[in-house]
Amino acid sequence: MSSAKINAAIDNLKQAGVRITPQRHAILEHLIQSMSHPTADEIYKALEGKFPNMSVATVYNNLRVFKEAGLVKELTYGDSSSRFDCVTTDHYHIICDSCGKIVDFHYPGLDEVESLAESVTGFDVGRHRMEIYGVCPDCKRKH
Ligand SMILES: [Zn+2]
Ligand SMILES: [Zn+2]
Repeated sequence: MSSAKINAAIDNLKQAGVRITPQRHAILEHLIQSMSHPTADEIYKALEGKFPNMSVATVYNNLRVFKEAGLVKELTYGDSSSRFDCVTTDHYHIICDSCGKIVDFHYPGLDEVESLAESVTGFDVGRHRMEIYGVCPDCKRKH
């Protein structure tokens, strides 16, 4: 299932004129498989064994290339370092106030809010953003 996602993502990149290097392939694969919204640093740590010549800066530059191609979203929450998310499906985030973990969930009903906002205000609605905050099960267990 995730290999189909990876192939689709790679086709998108090729269409955007991005050259697929083994590093880029590995970073993309890690992003799609991890589901954990990793930081550039976490991706670097996961892949440094495979690519000893790679630096955090390389990872970050590649993530920026993916971002420009519209394949990856950079999530900035407060002062913590950016986390990266693969834009494969529309989804929302619930964020732990205690450890900063970000978990995906789906709630299609919010699309209706966009059309409602459009008809009530006359705006052309482009996007919306919603985040839910709380304490994750792991942190709850620790308290
Ligand atoms: Zn937590
Ligand atoms: Zn996400």
